[in-house]
Amino acid sequence: MEKWDVVVVGAGPGGSYAAKTAAELGLKTVFLERGKYPGEKNSSGAGLGTRWWRDFPEIMGELPKLPSYRRIDMIVIKVVDEENRLRLVQGTTGSDRDGSRWSGSLDKGMAGASIYRADLDPLIADLAVAAGAELREATLATGVIMEGGVVRGVVTEKGERLAAEVVIAADGAMSTMARSAGVRNRWGGGCTLVPQVDFACDEEKLDAVVGNAEWCWFGPFNGAYQVNFRESFHLGAGKWLRPDWDTRPQDMLKRVMEIPAFRKFCKVVEARPREYQAHLLPWLKKPPKTFAGGMMLVGDAGGFPCPLDGEGIWHACMSGRIAAETAAWAISRGDVSERALAEYERRWKASPLGLEHSFGSEFVEIWDHSIFDPELMKRLIQLILEMSEIHPFSVLFDWSDDHVSCLNQHIEHLFDLLPEFSQFGKRYIKPLNAAISPRVVRRALLQAKVRMPALRLLPDEAYLKALSLLNKRLGERLKGTAGR
Ligand SMILES: Cc1cc2nc3c(=O)[nH]c(=O)nc-3n(C[C@H](O)[C@H](O)[C@H](O)COP(=O)(O)OP(=O)(O)OC[C@H]3O[C@@H](n4cnc5c(N)ncnc54)[C@H](O)[C@@H]3O)c2cc1C
Repeated sequence: MEKWDVVVVGAGPGGSYAAKTAAELGLKTVFLERGKYPGEKNSSGAGLGTRWWRDFPEIMGELPKLPSYRRIDMIVIKVVDEENRLRLVQGTTGSDRDGSRWSGSLDKGMAGASIYRADLDPLIADLAVAAGAELREATLATGVIMEGGVVRGVVTEKGERLAAEVVIAADGAMSTMARSAGVRNRWGGGCTLVPQVDFACDEEKLDAVVGNAEWCWFGPFNGAYQVNFRESFHLGAGKWLRPDWDTRPQDMLKRVMEIPAFRKFCKVVEARPREYQAHLLPWLKKPPKTFAGGMMLVGDAGGFPCPLDGEGIWHACMSGRIAAETAAWAISRGDVSERALAEYERRWKASPLGLEHSFGSEFVEIWDHSIFDPELMKRLIQLILEMSEIHPFSVLFDWSDDHVSCLNQHIEHLFDLLPEFSQFGKRYIKPLNAAISPRVVRRALLQAKVRMPALRLLPDEAYLKALSLLNKRLGERLKGTAGR
């Protein structure tokens, strides 16, 4: 039987990055890909955000050379009302980057890239091979070899048996490896199905219309993203696979394709639908168990995609890197037991990956109660339209690291705006105080209480101080009006 330090199953972004890191750390590493080559399926378009420059500059630096590359400086949100009319086009903050590298000082903005997986996956796999890992293409791993409850290697479809000190399962959402080792079975209601159409179009016309932007379509439907590449784009939507699923996946996209503004866009850029796909994407509040004796799960196999916006490629590469580093640490100590590999979970939880998931429930709930609820969206659109006139902020589509920090930056920004508003308020709004009814004041107080758990998201002392002051003022006001 062949013997390896590390066998990685899957040469998607997570597997290849794990193989690259393991090889760089001097481990004898092989990675297996069932496709003819990495990225063969071109399963998702990849929008890569700002933090890629910080964490994976060696990949970002190479992207502009690839055929499908489009630089991304902003996200444009298009809000459509019940009559299918385009009501709002909202661009988020532009790039803070100088266009060639991560500035290191500013973590805001949209300095990213769109790239086909058919371009990205081979690039990362090549880096792993250059680092010394062996890639075996057209090799399907069918199960793990277990000894005394510990994973000791994998078996392939061809009947090969590869022994490993550590197996890194990077075999995507379905993860045969995780199931074969008994780490988990199904995802329950935490997995989404993502239908997507790939369109070819005219490059110059796409340049003229979208420039360096990704688009999102929001309305009384499931929400849709539009990832724009050099001379093509993807339109995709998604929904959790729960018992109340009542839609044919393609219907989610049809709804968006009927929007007159989208049809007009397609006409202008000469769009031609090329391929329809529907893939699984785990979209969980937090990853379930990610390790077993002799094995670690990375990327989609581990349930790592971002709980706020479902992006998962950065998460795959990060978890791949941490898993390989943990493998090197465990092998050097001669202990790859389940107890030892619990170190993997400790490490990813302490990293930006862990921060991303520390508010997973809150993030998933936001999504569940907005974009994925078409009925609620009918009412929310009105609110969004009104809010956009006050402050065009976007928490969801700032790809900075991490979303909780972004949320705090946005709220701080709101506080920066407050002095301006207070001038206006003192002069024009204050005189109206007398008109506020006790019922409204009571309701405001109640709502402040209802929202108390959300304070966990906002550890900033200034905010807490402001909120307690607001409560005090409202309380005084309530007392003042109670006797009337
Ligand atoms: C439609 C869609 C759009 C998306 N858009 C974005 C986006 O814009 N930005 C973003 O960051 N994320 C996006 N995601 C999420 C992202 O695609 C995933 O989170 C990411 O691909 C996870 O990487 P991975 O390496 O863990 O798994 P995968 O990319 O699924 O790679 C798994 C690899 O393992 C191989 N494999 C599987 N089983 C075996 C086996 N038994 N033996 C050998 N090989 C095997 C597969 O062929 C594949 O190459 C999108 C997802 C979908 C479905």
